[in-house]
Amino acid sequence: MNPMKTFLIFTLMLLLAPSGVLGQGRAPAKVQDLRFWSNPTYTRVVIDVSREVEYRFATLPADPKAGIGHRLYVDILGAERAATLKAGYPVEDGLLKQVRLGSPQASTTRVVFDLTKLGDYKVFHLADPFRIVIDLAGGGLPSISSNAPEIRALPPAPPAAKPTAPPVAKAPAKASPGKDDGIGRILDRAPDDKPLSIHLPSGQERASLRRIVVDPGHGGKDPGAVGPNGILEKDVNLAMAKLLKAHLEKELGVEVRLTRDRDVYLSLQERTAIANRLDADLFISLHANASPNRGAYGTETYFLNLARSEQAAAVAARENGTTLKEVGDLEAILFDLMANAKINESSRLASEIQKALVSDLSRSFTNIKDLGVRQGPFHVLIGATMPSVLVEVAFISHPREEALLADRQFQDKSARAIARAVRNYGVALNLLAQN
Ligand SMILES: [Zn+2]
Repeated sequence: MNPMKTFLIFTLMLLLAPSGVLGQGRAPAKVQDLRFWSNPTYTRVVIDVSREVEYRFATLPADPKAGIGHRLYVDILGAERAATLKAGYPVEDGLLKQVRLGSPQASTTRVVFDLTKLGDYKVFHLADPFRIVIDLAGGGLPSISSNAPEIRALPPAPPAAKPTAPPVAKAPAKASPGKDDGIGRILDRAPDDKPLSIHLPSGQERASLRRIVVDPGHGGKDPGAVGPNGILEKDVNLAMAKLLKAHLEKELGVEVRLTRDRDVYLSLQERTAIANRLDADLFISLHANASPNRGAYGTETYFLNLARSEQAAAVAARENGTTLKEVGDLEAILFDLMANAKINESSRLASEIQKALVSDLSRSFTNIKDLGVRQGPFHVLIGATMPSVLVEVAFISHPREEALLADRQFQDKSARAIARAVRNYGVALNLLAQN
């Protein structure tokens, strides 16, 4: 049995464990905050919870007679709403009318999303700090909910994990109606069984490369890696991102947005939310590598995948500011499913970038080492609905490469090489006119 299957079965067992087990004898967690990023075609809501909790989610159909639209709800088990949170938040961004909070039963917080229409959505969580992310997309994009057997078709595991059992989103316990008007009504109509549904914003054909988001890694309070002579990764990333923007705009005639154009801190969710909000066609995150081994040097490019080689894990942990163990289990499954939608294009873009960087830099500099294209579970790339790569241009922990990274000519050559790679990628996929 391959490790991934073992991992999935283990995860299913966790998911199917009676919900009381984990939370017994503990004070309730707190739902601390709700955060939004939205435009008319994309909305991301992040629910901050004080610690890791279980949650379930499901949708409820519209009931036009009663004047009720489609709803998505998330039940956060063993969690209370912080006193600072209101019972309702109007959003009215074209996708989401409002968000309501209620308590269908003691120590469960229900967050209800009143939708303008039911489009695609994803619900997943991120660790450290624990938060639940809800992505809503407009438009009738295909979903893979009918392919959910990917999870259910696993070989039979211990009794709890029957292959046909719905892994998540079990019907919530019924509550007495009228307890809380809106919430009570929803509960009464909650379907008894709801399979795990993961709606993917995939299969969206991109006819051309119009808009690219370039993401200079780190920033503000997060310096990224620091070189032996004090060069900060965040500064190198920003300088290179500005050069890349200029080259892409000039040579490809595309629109380029930076996730940050100065020294400010952005959360990882904000970075991908920016790319999704702008409906970007590509997402390129720029970084400098670091290793405890001062002799390590070279260039490598990553795309998101769950393959967990040792080095990929180390790089991912550093770039995510977390450890791999903190990548939650369900999260990992969702990541895998989500990432696969764009994995081929991302891998192709990563190859073009890696090839161009190594060959172009080798013309002007010595000792450019090709560390190849790698795969890793990067939070910054997760949730991005477009081909996405993370480039580690050189090692800031290596004194010679640290000096290169701070060198304007090296930065410019690297930016040019990446722009040339994007052109090659675009031409190969007929996304750019050849000339
Ligand atoms: Zn970095």
